Amino acid sequence: MRTRFAPSPTGMLHIGGLRTALFAYLVAKQTKGSFLLRIEDTDQERSVEGAIENILRTLHWAGIPPDEGVLLENGVVVQKGSKGPYIQSERLGLYKKYADELLASGKAYPCFCTSDRLDRMRKDQQAHKQAPMYDRKCLGLSKEAVASRIAAGEKYVIRMEIPRSSAVTFTDDIRGFVSFEGETIDDQVLLKSDGFPTYHLAHVVDDHFMDIDIVIRGEEWLSSLPKHLLLFEYLGWKAPRYAHVPLLLNADRSKLSKRQGDVAAEDYQTKGYLPEALLNFLTLLGWNPGTEQEMFSLAELIDAFSIERVSKAGAIFDHEKLDWIQGQWIRKLTPEEFLGRIHPYLQKDLPAASVDPGILTKAILIQERLILLPEAPETLRFFYEEPTVTMELLANPKQKLTPELVKEILPQLRSLLEGIDAKDWNRTTLEAQLRSLVETKGYKLGQVLWPLRAALTGRPYSPGAFEVAEALGKEKTLQRIDACYK
Ligand code: GLU
Repeated sequence: MRTRFAPSPTGMLHIGGLRTALFAYLVAKQTKGSFLLRIEDTDQERSVEGAIENILRTLHWAGIPPDEGVLLENGVVVQKGSKGPYIQSERLGLYKKYADELLASGKAYPCFCTSDRLDRMRKDQQAHKQAPMYDRKCLGLSKEAVASRIAAGEKYVIRMEIPRSSAVTFTDDIRGFVSFEGETIDDQVLLKSDGFPTYHLAHVVDDHFMDIDIVIRGEEWLSSLPKHLLLFEYLGWKAPRYAHVPLLLNADRSKLSKRQGDVAAEDYQTKGYLPEALLNFLTLLGWNPGTEQEMFSLAELIDAFSIERVSKAGAIFDHEKLDWIQGQWIRKLTPEEFLGRIHPYLQKDLPAASVDPGILTKAILIQERLILLPEAPETLRFFYEEPTVTMELLANPKQKLTPELVKEILPQLRSLLEGIDAKDWNRTTLEAQLRSLVETKGYKLGQVLWPLRAALTGRPYSPGAFEVAEALGKEKTLQRIDACYK
Protein backbone atom coordinates (compact mmCIF):
# COMPACT_ATOMS: atom_id res chain seq x y z
CA MET A 1 0.00 0.00 0.00
CA ARG A 2 1.09 3.51 -0.70
CA THR A 3 0.31 5.83 2.19
CA ARG A 4 1.19 9.42 2.79
CA PHE A 5 1.64 12.02 5.45
CA ALA A 6 0.73 15.46 4.16
CA PRO A 7 1.52 18.16 6.67
CA SER A 8 1.19 21.87 6.10
CA PRO A 9 4.48 23.58 6.95
CA THR A 10 2.90 25.92 9.48
CA GLY A 11 5.16 25.19 12.46
CA MET A 12 6.44 22.35 14.59
CA LEU A 13 5.11 18.88 14.01
CA HIS A 14 2.18 18.38 16.37
CA ILE A 15 2.25 15.26 18.52
CA GLY A 16 -1.08 14.21 16.96
CA GLY A 17 0.51 14.68 13.53
CA LEU A 18 3.33 12.37 14.53
CA ARG A 19 0.76 9.74 15.48
CA THR A 20 -1.03 10.13 12.14
CA ALA A 21 2.32 9.84 10.33
CA LEU A 22 3.16 6.75 12.36
CA PHE A 23 -0.11 5.02 11.47
CA ALA A 24 0.52 5.76 7.79
CA TYR A 25 4.09 4.48 8.13
CA LEU A 26 2.95 1.26 9.81
CA VAL A 27 0.36 0.50 7.14
CA ALA A 28 2.90 1.09 4.36
CA LYS A 29 5.57 -1.04 6.00
CA GLN A 30 3.37 -3.97 6.85
CA THR A 31 2.37 -4.27 3.22
CA LYS A 32 5.94 -3.63 2.01
CA GLY A 33 4.64 -0.46 0.39
CA SER A 34 5.80 3.13 0.41
CA PHE A 35 5.33 5.91 2.89
CA LEU A 36 5.26 9.30 1.17
CA LEU A 37 5.67 12.77 2.52
CA ARG A 38 3.92 15.57 0.68
CA ILE A 39 4.05 19.20 1.72
CA GLU A 40 0.73 21.03 1.59
CA ASP A 41 1.72 24.67 1.38
CA THR A 42 -1.20 26.12 -0.52
CA ASP A 43 -1.91 28.55 2.28
CA GLN A 44 1.22 30.57 1.70
CA GLU A 45 0.47 33.07 4.43
CA ARG A 46 0.61 30.35 7.07
CA SER A 47 3.83 28.75 5.84
CA VAL A 48 6.68 29.04 8.31
CA GLU A 49 10.35 29.12 7.44
CA GLY A 50 12.13 25.95 8.57
CA ALA A 51 8.93 24.01 9.22
CA ILE A 52 9.67 21.37 6.56
CA GLU A 53 13.08 20.63 8.10
CA ASN A 54 11.56 20.47 11.56
CA ILE A 55 8.90 17.97 10.47
CA LEU A 56 11.45 15.79 8.69
CA ARG A 57 13.97 15.91 11.51
CA THR A 58 11.32 14.77 13.94
CA LEU A 59 10.29 11.89 11.66
CA HIS A 60 13.93 10.83 11.33
CA TRP A 61 14.47 11.03 15.08
CA ALA A 62 11.36 8.93 15.62
CA GLY A 63 12.71 6.36 13.16
CA ILE A 64 9.89 6.68 10.63
CA PRO A 65 11.41 8.63 7.73
CA PRO A 66 9.48 8.77 4.46
CA ASP A 67 10.50 6.55 1.52
CA GLU A 68 9.32 8.91 -1.17
CA GLY A 69 8.41 12.55 -1.65
CA VAL A 70 10.02 15.25 0.43
CA LEU A 71 12.96 13.76 2.30
CA LEU A 72 15.93 14.79 4.36
CA GLU A 73 19.27 13.67 2.93
CA ASN A 74 22.38 14.61 4.88
CA GLY A 75 20.38 17.32 6.57
CA VAL A 76 19.18 18.81 3.29
CA VAL A 77 15.55 18.80 2.11
CA VAL A 78 15.27 16.97 -1.24
CA GLN A 79 12.49 15.44 -3.32
CA LYS A 80 12.65 11.86 -4.48
CA GLY A 81 10.26 9.73 -6.50
CA SER A 82 8.58 9.47 -9.87
CA LYS A 83 5.31 11.18 -8.91
CA GLY A 84 6.71 14.57 -7.97
CA PRO A 85 6.94 17.38 -7.40
CA TYR A 86 5.77 16.63 -3.87
CA ILE A 87 5.35 20.22 -2.73
CA GLN A 88 1.96 21.59 -3.65
CA SER A 89 3.11 25.10 -4.51
CA GLU A 90 5.14 23.46 -7.31
CA ARG A 91 2.06 21.78 -8.79
CA LEU A 92 -0.20 24.77 -9.38
CA GLY A 93 -0.61 24.08 -13.12
CA LEU A 94 -2.05 20.67 -12.39
CA TYR A 95 -4.71 21.99 -10.02
CA LYS A 96 -5.67 24.68 -12.52
CA LYS A 97 -6.03 22.05 -15.21
CA TYR A 98 -8.51 20.01 -13.18
CA ALA A 99 -10.39 23.06 -11.93
CA ASP A 100 -10.86 24.02 -15.61
CA GLU A 101 -11.98 20.51 -16.42
CA LEU A 102 -14.60 20.70 -13.68
CA LEU A 103 -15.75 24.07 -15.06
CA ALA A 104 -16.03 22.62 -18.55
CA SER A 105 -18.05 19.63 -17.37
CA GLY A 106 -20.39 21.89 -15.38
CA LYS A 107 -19.42 20.41 -12.03
CA ALA A 108 -17.91 23.68 -10.90
CA TYR A 109 -18.66 27.36 -11.45
CA PRO A 110 -16.91 30.70 -11.12
CA CYS A 111 -17.98 32.80 -8.17
CA PHE A 112 -17.41 36.57 -8.15
CA CYS A 113 -18.76 37.27 -4.67
CA THR A 114 -16.58 39.61 -2.68
CA SER A 115 -15.38 38.72 0.79
CA ASP A 116 -17.53 41.56 2.11
CA ARG A 117 -20.63 40.02 0.65
CA LEU A 118 -19.70 36.55 1.92
CA ASP A 119 -19.10 37.98 5.40
CA ARG A 120 -22.47 39.68 5.46
CA MET A 121 -24.15 36.54 4.19
CA ARG A 122 -22.49 34.42 6.90
CA LYS A 123 -23.43 36.84 9.68
CA ASP A 124 -26.99 36.92 8.46
CA GLN A 125 -27.17 33.12 8.42
CA GLN A 126 -25.73 32.95 11.91
CA ALA A 127 -28.26 35.50 13.14
CA HIS A 128 -31.00 33.24 11.75
CA LYS A 129 -29.38 30.21 13.37
CA GLN A 130 -28.61 28.67 10.00
CA ALA A 131 -25.40 26.79 9.20
CA PRO A 132 -23.14 29.13 7.18
CA MET A 133 -23.21 28.09 3.57
CA TYR A 134 -22.70 29.77 0.21
CA ASP A 135 -26.09 30.93 -1.13
CA ARG A 136 -25.22 30.10 -4.75
CA LYS A 137 -25.69 33.63 -6.04
CA CYS A 138 -23.19 32.96 -8.86
CA LEU A 139 -24.43 29.49 -9.77
CA GLY A 140 -27.00 30.74 -12.25
CA LEU A 141 -24.77 33.20 -14.11
CA SER A 142 -24.97 32.91 -17.89
CA LYS A 143 -21.89 32.03 -19.94
CA GLU A 144 -21.94 35.55 -21.38
CA ALA A 145 -22.13 37.22 -17.99
CA VAL A 146 -19.23 35.11 -16.73
CA ALA A 147 -17.14 35.87 -19.82
CA SER A 148 -17.71 39.60 -19.64
CA ARG A 149 -16.97 39.82 -15.91
CA ILE A 150 -13.75 37.88 -16.41
CA ALA A 151 -12.84 40.10 -19.35
CA ALA A 152 -13.48 43.14 -17.17
CA GLY A 153 -10.82 41.81 -14.77
CA GLU A 154 -13.14 40.87 -11.91
CA LYS A 155 -11.63 38.51 -9.39
CA TYR A 156 -13.26 35.13 -8.96
CA VAL A 157 -12.89 31.77 -7.32
CA ILE A 158 -14.01 28.39 -8.59
CA ARG A 159 -16.57 26.51 -6.54
CA MET A 160 -17.74 22.92 -6.88
CA GLU A 161 -21.44 22.30 -7.22
CA ILE A 162 -22.89 19.87 -4.71
CA PRO A 163 -25.99 17.85 -5.63
CA ARG A 164 -28.17 19.03 -2.78
CA SER A 165 -30.91 16.43 -3.12
CA SER A 166 -28.90 13.27 -2.53
CA ALA A 167 -26.68 11.89 0.19
CA VAL A 168 -23.02 10.89 0.01
CA THR A 169 -22.21 7.66 1.80
CA PHE A 170 -18.94 5.94 2.50
CA THR A 171 -17.28 3.35 4.70
CA ASP A 172 -14.31 4.78 6.52
CA ASP A 173 -11.65 2.36 7.77
CA ILE A 174 -11.98 3.70 11.31
CA ARG A 175 -15.39 5.37 11.49
CA GLY A 176 -17.28 2.69 9.60
CA PHE A 177 -20.35 3.71 7.60
CA VAL A 178 -20.85 7.46 7.27
CA SER A 179 -23.55 9.39 5.44
CA PHE A 180 -23.80 13.09 4.59
CA GLU A 181 -26.97 14.80 3.37
CA GLY A 182 -26.34 16.87 0.23
CA GLU A 183 -28.19 19.84 1.62
CA THR A 184 -25.67 20.15 4.46
CA ILE A 185 -22.63 20.27 2.15
CA ASP A 186 -21.31 23.65 1.07
CA ASP A 187 -20.30 24.50 -2.52
CA GLN A 188 -16.63 24.38 -1.62
CA VAL A 189 -14.09 26.78 -3.13
CA LEU A 190 -11.61 24.69 -5.12
CA LEU A 191 -9.40 27.36 -6.64
CA LYS A 192 -8.78 30.71 -5.01
CA SER A 193 -8.55 33.99 -6.91
CA ASP A 194 -4.75 33.98 -6.54
CA GLY A 195 -4.56 30.73 -8.51
CA PHE A 196 -3.80 28.57 -5.50
CA PRO A 197 -6.01 25.57 -4.90
CA THR A 198 -7.67 24.88 -1.59
CA TYR A 199 -6.73 21.74 0.31
CA HIS A 200 -9.87 20.05 -1.00
CA LEU A 201 -8.95 20.11 -4.66
CA ALA A 202 -5.21 19.79 -4.13
CA HIS A 203 -5.26 16.65 -2.04
CA VAL A 204 -7.72 14.91 -4.36
CA VAL A 205 -5.53 15.61 -7.38
CA ASP A 206 -2.38 14.63 -5.52
CA ASP A 207 -3.67 11.49 -3.88
CA HIS A 208 -4.90 10.39 -7.29
CA PHE A 209 -1.65 11.05 -9.17
CA MET A 210 0.53 9.84 -6.34
CA ASP A 211 -1.37 6.53 -6.35
CA ILE A 212 -2.31 6.69 -2.70
CA ASP A 213 -4.24 3.63 -1.55
CA ILE A 214 -5.39 4.91 1.79
CA VAL A 215 -5.61 8.43 3.16
CA ILE A 216 -4.94 8.41 6.90
CA ARG A 217 -5.63 11.83 8.35
CA GLY A 218 -7.03 13.68 11.33
CA GLU A 219 -10.68 13.50 12.25
CA GLU A 220 -11.09 17.23 11.64
CA TRP A 221 -11.33 16.39 7.92
CA LEU A 222 -14.20 13.95 8.23
CA SER A 223 -16.87 16.59 7.61
CA SER A 224 -15.15 17.52 4.32
CA LEU A 225 -15.04 13.92 3.15
CA PRO A 226 -18.24 14.11 1.03
CA LYS A 227 -16.74 16.97 -1.01
CA HIS A 228 -13.65 14.91 -1.64
CA LEU A 229 -15.60 11.83 -2.64
CA LEU A 230 -17.66 13.91 -5.05
CA LEU A 231 -14.51 15.40 -6.57
CA PHE A 232 -13.12 11.92 -7.23
CA GLU A 233 -16.42 11.03 -8.86
CA TYR A 234 -16.58 14.24 -10.96
CA LEU A 235 -13.05 13.67 -12.22
CA GLY A 236 -13.75 10.03 -13.01
CA TRP A 237 -11.17 8.71 -10.57
CA LYS A 238 -11.41 5.94 -8.02
CA ALA A 239 -11.38 7.32 -4.48
CA PRO A 240 -8.80 5.86 -2.10
CA ARG A 241 -9.70 4.30 1.23
CA TYR A 242 -9.97 6.85 4.02
CA ALA A 243 -9.24 6.45 7.72
CA HIS A 244 -9.99 9.39 9.99
CA VAL A 245 -7.87 9.19 13.10
CA PRO A 246 -9.55 10.42 16.31
CA LEU A 247 -8.31 13.45 18.18
CA LEU A 248 -5.92 13.44 21.10
CA LEU A 249 -7.55 14.74 24.25
CA ASN A 250 -6.51 16.22 27.58
CA ALA A 251 -7.53 14.36 30.73
CA ASP A 252 -10.70 16.49 30.90
CA ARG A 253 -11.59 15.32 27.35
CA SER A 254 -10.95 18.75 25.80
CA LYS A 255 -8.85 18.89 22.66
CA LEU A 256 -5.15 18.39 23.48
CA SER A 257 -3.84 21.86 24.10
CA LYS A 258 -0.61 23.56 24.90
CA ARG A 259 -1.89 24.75 28.25
CA GLN A 260 -2.09 21.19 29.53
CA GLY A 261 1.27 19.93 28.31
CA ASP A 262 3.49 19.81 25.29
CA VAL A 263 1.93 19.51 21.87
CA ALA A 264 5.00 19.72 19.64
CA ALA A 265 6.53 16.30 18.99
CA GLU A 266 9.96 17.88 19.27
CA ASP A 267 9.31 18.81 22.90
CA TYR A 268 9.21 15.11 23.77
CA GLN A 269 12.59 14.64 22.15
CA THR A 270 13.98 17.59 24.09
CA LYS A 271 12.53 16.28 27.33
CA GLY A 272 14.47 13.07 26.80
CA TYR A 273 11.85 10.54 25.80
CA LEU A 274 13.12 7.63 23.77
CA PRO A 275 11.66 7.49 20.27
CA GLU A 276 10.83 3.83 20.93
CA ALA A 277 8.77 4.81 23.97
CA LEU A 278 7.00 7.69 22.26
CA LEU A 279 6.02 5.58 19.24
CA ASN A 280 4.89 2.71 21.47
CA PHE A 281 2.78 5.14 23.51
CA LEU A 282 1.32 6.99 20.51
CA THR A 283 0.20 3.78 18.84
CA LEU A 284 -1.61 2.65 21.96
CA LEU A 285 -3.46 5.98 21.94
CA GLY A 286 -6.47 4.77 20.07
CA TRP A 287 -5.18 1.45 18.79
CA ASN A 288 -6.17 -1.66 20.64
CA PRO A 289 -3.94 -4.67 19.96
CA GLY A 290 -6.67 -7.04 21.15
CA THR A 291 -4.24 -8.65 23.63
CA GLU A 292 -2.72 -7.67 26.98
CA GLN A 293 0.58 -6.75 25.33
CA GLU A 294 1.64 -3.15 25.99
CA MET A 295 5.26 -3.06 24.98
CA PHE A 296 5.83 -2.98 21.23
CA SER A 297 8.97 -2.27 19.27
CA LEU A 298 8.55 -0.59 15.90
CA ALA A 299 9.05 -3.96 14.20
CA GLU A 300 6.36 -5.50 16.40
CA LEU A 301 4.03 -2.62 15.65
CA ILE A 302 4.53 -3.11 11.94
CA ASP A 303 3.52 -6.70 12.46
CA ALA A 304 0.57 -6.21 14.77
CA PHE A 305 -0.96 -2.86 13.81
CA SER A 306 -4.21 -2.66 11.94
CA ILE A 307 -6.03 0.54 11.13
CA GLU A 308 -9.41 -1.16 11.67
CA ARG A 309 -8.55 -1.66 15.33
CA VAL A 310 -8.13 2.08 15.90
CA SER A 311 -11.01 3.27 18.04
CA LYS A 312 -13.21 6.07 16.77
CA ALA A 313 -13.38 7.68 20.21
CA GLY A 314 -10.89 10.43 21.09
CA ALA A 315 -7.85 9.18 22.98
CA ILE A 316 -6.75 10.73 26.26
CA PHE A 317 -3.09 11.67 26.30
CA ASP A 318 -2.09 10.08 29.60
CA HIS A 319 1.30 11.49 30.64
CA GLU A 320 1.68 8.92 33.43
CA LYS A 321 1.26 6.09 30.97
CA LEU A 322 3.87 7.69 28.73
CA ASP A 323 6.33 7.81 31.63
CA TRP A 324 5.58 4.21 32.51
CA ILE A 325 6.25 3.08 28.95
CA GLN A 326 9.38 5.20 28.86
CA GLY A 327 10.63 3.55 32.07
CA GLN A 328 9.96 0.12 30.60
CA TRP A 329 11.87 1.04 27.46
CA ILE A 330 14.86 2.36 29.43
CA ARG A 331 15.03 -0.94 31.32
CA LYS A 332 14.84 -2.89 28.06
CA LEU A 333 17.99 -1.32 26.63
CA THR A 334 21.26 -3.19 27.07
CA PRO A 335 23.59 -1.34 29.51
CA GLU A 336 25.78 -0.35 26.57
CA GLU A 337 22.80 1.03 24.63
CA PHE A 338 21.65 2.86 27.71
CA LEU A 339 25.07 4.42 28.17
CA GLY A 340 25.03 5.42 24.50
CA ARG A 341 21.71 7.22 24.97
CA ILE A 342 22.76 9.15 28.08
CA HIS A 343 26.29 9.89 26.91
CA PRO A 344 25.50 13.14 25.07
CA TYR A 345 23.85 14.48 28.23
CA LEU A 346 26.87 13.46 30.33
CA GLN A 347 29.23 15.15 27.91
CA LYS A 348 27.27 18.32 28.32
CA ASP A 349 26.39 18.36 32.03
CA LEU A 350 28.79 15.95 33.73
CA PRO A 351 31.96 15.74 31.63
CA ALA A 352 33.84 13.79 34.32
CA ALA A 353 31.37 10.92 33.89
CA SER A 354 31.64 10.98 30.12
CA VAL A 355 35.40 10.19 30.29
CA ASP A 356 35.26 7.83 33.29
CA PRO A 357 36.39 4.32 32.25
CA GLY A 358 34.18 2.93 35.04
CA ILE A 359 31.04 4.74 33.90
CA LEU A 360 29.23 1.62 32.68
CA THR A 361 28.98 0.07 36.19
CA LYS A 362 27.60 3.34 37.51
CA ALA A 363 25.23 3.84 34.60
CA ILE A 364 23.74 0.38 35.19
CA LEU A 365 22.81 1.48 38.69
CA ILE A 366 20.66 4.35 37.46
CA GLN A 367 19.20 2.45 34.51
CA GLU A 368 16.83 0.80 36.96
CA ARG A 369 15.19 4.03 37.98
CA LEU A 370 15.74 6.73 35.37
CA ILE A 371 12.77 8.04 33.38
CA LEU A 372 14.05 10.96 31.32
CA LEU A 373 17.49 10.89 29.70
CA PRO A 374 18.50 14.47 30.59
CA GLU A 375 18.14 13.54 34.27
CA ALA A 376 21.12 11.17 34.00
CA PRO A 377 23.87 13.70 34.87
CA GLU A 378 22.05 14.78 38.03
CA THR A 379 21.44 11.19 39.14
CA LEU A 380 25.10 10.29 38.62
CA ARG A 381 26.59 13.50 39.96
CA PHE A 382 27.30 12.23 43.49
CA PHE A 383 29.78 9.74 42.05
CA TYR A 384 31.91 12.61 40.77
CA GLU A 385 31.37 15.40 43.25
CA GLU A 386 31.69 15.15 47.02
CA PRO A 387 28.19 15.24 48.50
CA THR A 388 27.13 17.56 51.27
CA VAL A 389 25.64 15.34 53.96
CA THR A 390 23.57 16.83 56.75
CA MET A 391 22.54 15.22 60.04
CA GLU A 392 18.98 15.87 58.97
CA LEU A 393 19.45 13.46 56.10
CA LEU A 394 21.39 10.89 58.11
CA ALA A 395 18.95 10.71 61.01
CA ASN A 396 15.88 9.44 59.24
CA PRO A 397 12.93 9.12 61.63
CA LYS A 398 11.33 6.56 59.31
CA GLN A 399 14.26 4.27 60.01
CA LYS A 400 14.01 5.08 63.74
CA LEU A 401 17.34 6.88 63.57
CA THR A 402 18.21 9.63 66.00
CA PRO A 403 21.33 11.77 65.63
CA GLU A 404 22.74 9.95 68.67
CA LEU A 405 22.21 6.59 67.07
CA VAL A 406 23.77 7.80 63.81
CA LYS A 407 26.82 8.94 65.73
CA GLU A 408 27.01 5.55 67.39
CA ILE A 409 26.57 3.55 64.19
CA LEU A 410 28.78 5.41 61.71
CA PRO A 411 32.13 4.75 63.45
CA GLN A 412 31.29 1.07 63.79
CA LEU A 413 30.36 0.94 60.15
CA ARG A 414 33.61 2.59 59.27
CA SER A 415 35.81 0.18 61.15
CA LEU A 416 33.87 -2.76 59.79
CA LEU A 417 34.36 -1.56 56.21
CA GLU A 418 37.99 -0.72 56.81
CA GLY A 419 38.53 -4.34 57.79
CA ILE A 420 37.33 -5.63 54.41
CA ASP A 421 40.17 -6.41 52.08
CA ALA A 422 40.19 -4.20 48.94
CA LYS A 423 40.16 -7.29 46.71
CA ASP A 424 36.95 -8.50 48.41
CA TRP A 425 35.31 -5.11 47.95
CA ASN A 426 32.07 -6.07 46.24
CA ARG A 427 28.39 -5.84 47.03
CA THR A 428 28.14 -9.47 48.20
CA THR A 429 30.88 -9.21 50.79
CA LEU A 430 29.70 -5.80 51.87
CA GLU A 431 26.19 -7.10 52.40
CA ALA A 432 27.36 -10.16 54.34
CA GLN A 433 29.55 -8.03 56.61
CA LEU A 434 26.86 -5.49 57.26
CA ARG A 435 24.32 -8.14 58.08
CA SER A 436 26.66 -9.62 60.65
CA LEU A 437 27.04 -6.20 62.28
CA VAL A 438 23.27 -5.84 62.39
CA GLU A 439 22.89 -9.25 63.98
CA THR A 440 25.59 -8.88 66.62
CA LYS A 441 24.53 -5.38 67.64
CA GLY A 442 20.77 -5.86 67.35
CA TYR A 443 20.26 -2.94 64.93
CA LYS A 444 17.64 -2.98 62.23
CA LEU A 445 19.08 -3.40 58.76
CA GLY A 446 17.67 -0.03 57.69
CA GLN A 447 19.38 1.70 60.59
CA VAL A 448 22.73 0.76 59.11
CA LEU A 449 21.91 0.89 55.43
CA TRP A 450 20.29 4.31 55.47
CA PRO A 451 23.19 6.28 56.99
CA LEU A 452 25.68 4.42 54.82
CA ARG A 453 23.79 5.23 51.63
CA ALA A 454 23.09 8.80 52.76
CA ALA A 455 26.76 9.34 53.65
CA LEU A 456 27.89 8.09 50.25
CA THR A 457 25.37 9.96 48.12
CA GLY A 458 24.07 12.91 50.11
CA ARG A 459 20.64 12.09 48.69
CA PRO A 460 17.36 10.83 50.02
CA TYR A 461 16.94 8.73 46.85
CA SER A 462 19.70 6.93 45.00
CA PRO A 463 20.80 3.44 44.05
CA GLY A 464 21.33 1.06 47.00
CA ALA A 465 24.15 1.36 49.56
CA PHE A 466 26.08 -1.77 48.53
CA GLU A 467 26.00 -0.98 44.84
CA VAL A 468 27.13 2.59 45.43
CA ALA A 469 29.90 1.53 47.83
CA GLU A 470 31.10 -1.07 45.34
CA ALA A 471 31.18 1.47 42.51
CA LEU A 472 32.90 4.12 44.61
CA GLY A 473 35.61 1.74 45.86
CA LYS A 474 36.93 1.25 49.34
CA GLU A 475 39.00 4.36 49.69
CA LYS A 476 36.31 6.81 48.58
CA THR A 477 33.69 5.04 50.66
CA LEU A 478 35.76 5.44 53.83
CA GLN A 479 36.55 9.05 53.01
CA ARG A 480 32.88 9.90 52.62
CA ILE A 481 31.94 8.25 55.89
CA ASP A 482 34.75 10.14 57.61
CA ALA A 483 33.49 13.40 56.17
CA CYS A 484 30.18 12.85 57.98
CA TYR A 485 31.32 12.63 61.54
CA LYS A 486 34.77 14.05 61.77
N1 GLU B 1 -2.42 19.42 5.13
C1 GLU B 1 -3.44 18.78 5.90
C2 GLU B 1 -3.18 19.01 7.37
O1 GLU B 1 -2.05 19.29 7.73
C3 GLU B 1 -3.37 17.31 5.61
C4 GLU B 1 -4.56 16.54 5.80
C5 GLU B 1 -4.34 15.22 5.06
O2 GLU B 1 -3.56 14.42 5.54
O3 GLU B 1 -4.92 15.02 4.01
O4 GLU B 1 -4.06 18.89 8.17
